Amino acid sequence: IEETAYQNDKLAMLGKISASIAHEIRNPLTAIRGFIQLLRPHLLHMGKDEYARIILMEIDRANDIISEFLNSSKPSAPQMSVINVSSLLKEVVLLSESEALMNGCQITLQDREAPLYISVDSKQIKQVILNIIKNAMDAIEDLGHNHAGMIHIHVEQVSTNVEIHICDNGKGMDHDILARLFDPFFTTKKTGTGLGLSVSYRIIKNHGGFIYVNSDLGEGTHFKITLPHIK
Ligand code: ADP
Repeated sequence: IEETAYQNDKLAMLGKISASIAHEIRNPLTAIRGFIQLLRPHLLHMGKDEYARIILMEIDRANDIISEFLNSSKPSAPQMSVINVSSLLKEVVLLSESEALMNGCQITLQDREAPLYISVDSKQIKQVILNIIKNAMDAIEDLGHNHAGMIHIHVEQVSTNVEIHICDNGKGMDHDILARLFDPFFTTKKTGTGLGLSVSYRIIKNHGGFIYVNSDLGEGTHFKITLPHIK
């Protein structure tokens, strides 16, 4: 019970801090968005409209993430839709691939013939997967450039659930880290926020699912997300 009270205090604090920094981050984002739109005709002229499109899309995603943090205090209704889990994963892998390449790590997504459907807020679930992939890349990066980093993603149906598995061969975690992984503000990184997994945990719980973690120090980490399967 004490643990839960502690966690709730921290979540309340998270809400307040998010609210106060949100404006500070949103203002420059709004300025960047405006100037990119002004530049758009020039980019189009150079045949680079795709860049403008990606920048705008990513700014909007950053804004969505800020809203998501703000929702820690007052949650808004999620935008639910029935989607094929593999399509969602493909999009996320595509988004992460350039960064993965820069870190010298390879992301593989196992192909699946039969579609598996879940009813989710796609933006929220994408954010969860991105958080986990980002952490995996950090854990791989810490092993240095000679390490051949691998992130493997696959999905399967297990009774009434869809399971998303994300495995990395990064530095792994010891018991102390594993025990605090989902605590708001828990981070082992110099510039970490320690928010990624606490927010991800809440999102998955809100979807009626669960996140499991297995990790071996020096070997790697295995995240399993379960979500209800829609027939
Ligand atoms: P942040 O990434 O800002 O530190 P997170 O909540 O996403 O916040 O993660 C909390 C901590 O969990 C990280 O600082 C890291 O120590 C640990 N962690 C998460 N994922 C992994 C992973 N795949 N491999 C090793 N450690 C991890």
